[in-house]
Amino acid sequence: MKDYSGFSFWLETSGDDLTPRPGIDGSIHADIAILGAGFSGLWTAYYLIKQDPSLRIVILEKEIAGFGASGRNGGWCVAEFPYPLRSLIDNYGPETARSIQEQMVQSVNEIGSVCESEGIDAHYAKTGTFDIARSPHQVPEIHEHLDTLTEIGQEADFRIVSGPELRQDIRVSNVQAALWNRNGASVQPAALARGLARAVEKLGVTIFEQTAVTGYETQPRPRLKTERGDVWAETLVLAGEAYLSQLPQVGRQIMPMTSHMVVTEPLPDELWAQIGWGNRQVITGPGTNGGYLNHTRDGRIAFGAYRAVNPFRSKITDDLDQQEEIFAHARTSAREWFPLLRLHGISFTHAWGGVFGVPRDRMPTMRYDRETGIASTRGYTGEGVATSNLGGRMLADQILDRVTELTVLPMASHHSPDWEMEPLRWAGTQLVKRGLQRAERQAKESGEKSDKPTLAQRIWNR
Ligand SMILES: Cc1cc2nc3c(=O)[nH]c(=O)nc-3n(C[C@H](O)[C@H](O)[C@H](O)COP(=O)(O)OP(=O)(O)OC[C@H]3O[C@@H](n4cnc5c(N)ncnc54)[C@H](O)[C@@H]3O)c2cc1C
Repeated sequence: MKDYSGFSFWLETSGDDLTPRPGIDGSIHADIAILGAGFSGLWTAYYLIKQDPSLRIVILEKEIAGFGASGRNGGWCVAEFPYPLRSLIDNYGPETARSIQEQMVQSVNEIGSVCESEGIDAHYAKTGTFDIARSPHQVPEIHEHLDTLTEIGQEADFRIVSGPELRQDIRVSNVQAALWNRNGASVQPAALARGLARAVEKLGVTIFEQTAVTGYETQPRPRLKTERGDVWAETLVLAGEAYLSQLPQVGRQIMPMTSHMVVTEPLPDELWAQIGWGNRQVITGPGTNGGYLNHTRDGRIAFGAYRAVNPFRSKITDDLDQQEEIFAHARTSAREWFPLLRLHGISFTHAWGGVFGVPRDRMPTMRYDRETGIASTRGYTGEGVATSNLGGRMLADQILDRVTELTVLPMASHHSPDWEMEPLRWAGTQLVKRGLQRAERQAKESGEKSDKPTLAQRIWNR
């Protein structure tokens, strides 16, 4: 059996011994069968059982609850929808964009209140988030984002903070300016996933671990198939995010990409006194040395690198998690953000990776098709901690046939186009990635960002 504590610092320190629950043993019947015990599957189960405690809900998990991205991410729980706000307004209108933004705020608050009501110690701290520009060419972007938020009347919780003002609070190098968002929280993601799993079990949901779904059928009745028995149900929920790419029926709907993180040893109090960052706000910053950062409750700095790999043929293996070159880059970037780390000889104790899912058009799907009995929430492009809560709430309302403010949102009827067949998919994404890196280099050199998409982007985004 795998040593699950080795898959991330968060899993290791989740306060759980990670012993797998029993697997399925023979075919069974249920009302709802869910693939995946990450945030998406668990939130969907949670909101369903809370609204209808009589439901028979079964979750099938290939490894253990929280094994996937949910137990490995940056713990960056922020009211930011993965699809760009500008595109939301242009494609769906300002009213819809505002509703989605409000629901993302609601998701951040929901996560905090469920942790409280269910007694989940997920280190939830709603301390806000800083989007930091560390190069002059990045400054216009945060102003543009605030302008777009203003367009939909959602600017009240945001504020531009100048470099000197931010440096009084957090000593990050090269700060030019930052966008402050009140609606951000820091979480210990594995503790959240493991706690949620226990909470849904207590409410009557059955979780089978070590049980891989090998496929599903909708005729004559929906069922999730495994090698040790099937689950027949009215509704099947596909909540496997990046791993759905491994299922033939939906494989081209999502492309897996990796993200990698490192974490320091706990910093001594004298060092924290110099660095500041006393409120444990979550931080992000774009660019080649950019990253997503968390100040853990036990006093470490967790640094996630923006350097993704998309595996050829979307093949997901545990080896993907170990990318020494990216770990080295993340350590260097973290020391560059906080030069005091080098000065004080602070070491890094853990390094890990995981996969997140990217839909072809970057728009998440949170849809239930009553005719086939298939529901799915997926496609968060690496911003799924808060978004998966929205997905769970949206699926629960749709499955329970309730018309609410959530069921009219566009994700409820969205169909992303399929990704190209390989090797075109892999080649296209490499080309775009290189184009973006070149554009970033040029912008850094010139101090100005070009709004013109690269040639590769123009072709790829047609
Ligand atoms: C390193 C990293 C850092 C990230 N940082 C952030 C962040 O800071 N903030 C943020 O908002 N988002 C972040 N993300 C993204 C976020 O973690 C995900 O979007 C979110 O956790 C997705 O949850 P999920 O439940 O949909 O998928 P997952 O958590 O991946 O869960 C899917 C589950 O399905 C199981 N499974 C797979 N195949 C099968 C099968 N055949 N049968 C049964 N079960 C199966 C898996 O074992 C897994 O447990 C990050 C992702 C990574 C990888």
